[in-house]
Amino acid sequence: MTAILEALQADITTLQLDAIVNAANPSLLGGGGVDGAIHRAAGPELVSECRGLGGCDTGDARLTGGYRLPARHVIHTVGPVWRGGGAGEPELLASCYRRSLEVADAHGLRSVAFPCISTGLYGYPAAAAANVAVTTVRQTAARLDGIGRVLFCCFSPEDLRIYQRLLQVE
Ligand code: ADP
Repeated sequence: MTAILEALQADITTLQLDAIVNAANPSLLGGGGVDGAIHRAAGPELVSECRGLGGCDTGDARLTGGYRLPARHVIHTVGPVWRGGGAGEPELLASCYRRSLEVADAHGLRSVAFPCISTGLYGYPAAAAANVAVTTVRQTAARLDGIGRVLFCCFSPEDLRIYQRLLQVE
């Protein structure tokens, strides 16, 4: 089965899906940007569960409940900090998208939304990051039968335009 890939402009905390992905930091204990928004919307039970996970390496992903979010689960992944592109950033960012979908699939979750990982505070250039995101999700979803729908949840109209252009190219 081929997964449906779509881009939309939204606050990811409003999406009612099997899972939303959080652009977390290695502690998994909350932060700014999308991470802060997800923790605020999910409520304090989320940080309690995260405390028990003992952190997460850059490029890896961990699953928790969604608590007060409309999404059933949160997949926390840790993107790379942009250091100019020569420090393995593209591979680590690709790993975030790949590992998040693998974790979703392993738990029978079919619909997943991603934010634009690493492109806020972590400074990854938006167009380059979107390219890695779309390429990796296409490749990964093609081999994971359980993944039915992947949304690229853009916060800005500029990001949405970048994703729409990439998704038009088959
Ligand atoms: P990172 O530290 O990985 O760069 P940020 O949270 O700073 O993470 O930014 C990642 C992306 O998430 C940015 O494109 C930012 O605009 C976006 N973002 C921030 N809040 C939300 C939200 N509520 N829903 C969706 N995307 C968001």
